[in-house]
Amino acid sequence: MGAAEKVKDFKNLAAELNLDLDLKEGRLFSAALELLEDMAAELDALRLDRDRLSERVYLLEANLEDLEDALFEEAEAEDETSYAVRCPNCGGRVVFDESALDDDIICPACGEILRFDTPEDVEIDDSED
Ligand SMILES: [Zn+2]
Repeated sequence: MGAAEKVKDFKNLAAELNLDLDLKEGRLFSAALELLEDMAAELDALRLDRDRLSERVYLLEANLEDLEDALFEEAEAEDETSYAVRCPNCGGRVVFDESALDDDIICPACGEILRFDTPEDVEIDDSED
């Protein structure tokens, strides 16, 4: 039951008791009841807003989690080691990722096929040219 409904019950009870609202106490009670009605309406509206906001925050959190997952996966992929080697045929610089080791690596300059059995076989060339 919302606050507004409770106040309505209270108001009905006051009507049943047939209070004399023309007396000072009655007028004060009447004013207090009105105030109570306003506050109850405000409270119910706030509760509704809060529920809507909670739902939105929940959805935002879920979206953020998806985004984090996607970004994290991307960062993981970028963590892959890359290698730079000299082509034994033409001396050109060949750059490739760890995952490329599973296949033959072809020198883009001369087409020579470079083979490495394990990453340890790769002779790293750190010079940048
Ligand atoms: Zn080459």
